Amino acid sequence: GYGENYLHEDAYNETKQISDAFNKLWDRYKVLDASREEFVANVSHELKTPLTSMKVLADSLLAQPEAPVELYQEFMGDLSQEIERENKIINDLLSLVKLDKRGANLNIKSENINELVERILKRLRPLAATRNIELVFESFRTVSAEVDEVKLSLAVTNLVENAVKYNKEDGWVHVALNADHKYFYLKVADSGIGIPKEETEHIFERFYRVDKSHSREIGGTGLGLAIARNAVVMHRGAIKVYSEPGEGTTFTVRIPLTYISQ
Ligand code: ADP
Repeated sequence: GYGENYLHEDAYNETKQISDAFNKLWDRYKVLDASREEFVANVSHELKTPLTSMKVLADSLLAQPEAPVELYQEFMGDLSQEIERENKIINDLLSLVKLDKRGANLNIKSENINELVERILKRLRPLAATRNIELVFESFRTVSAEVDEVKLSLAVTNLVENAVKYNKEDGWVHVALNADHKYFYLKVADSGIGIPKEETEHIFERFYRVDKSHSREIGGTGLGLAIARNAVVMHRGAIKVYSEPGEGTTFTVRIPLTYISQ
């Protein structure tokens, strides 16, 4: 009779709810699985590129047992560079993988952010000097915040390094630090080549480069900004980019002064 129908309807609704929920999860899993697959494919490709060059260099030397010592010297120099590049990709990948564990192993301590930035700029001054780039730090406040010093330093280093790398001869990089009662704000502005509007939404993706050959030439891996964003997000912060092609680029980072655990 009536009651039986009612039960059927209930069971139907229940089943439908479960199946809808399952389908939703399955769709999300497929998206995750596809991006994981793409990541593995990208990693393999990136690791193979220097390896292919190494193989060509080694084989061509092997094919010329009577080659003059100068040629050996030159090829060994090239080989050493490719090894260095492979090493950089592996190091960046290791940093990125550690940062992917959403907030898992953060080592939070109260840090003086002014000193943290000063240390990074000091390390990057020689690189800036090679192209006569002025590196200026403007600190509006003394900021003390609860951060993972190693991971935040990775983010700041990558931003400042990019500002130098994608700059012009005799250009400038301005780093500014400010804070209010809740957040500290870090700004990295440069007088560099800029980023086309339609590219800015992609630059934080792993292995994404605006100009692949230019990035490779200056020793880029395409992982720097992915590392920076993950490090900032782990601190429950936000990172944004503003750019004017041919004029320069500004990255802004906002991080809570007090660490908020999940
Ligand atoms: P890469 O190792 O190639 O520098 P990143 O992930 O650090 O990789 O940056 C991704 C891409 O974003 C770079 O290849 C470059 O095209 C662009 N980019 C990053 N920072 C800047 C900047 N300050 N000015 C201009 N372009 C930049």
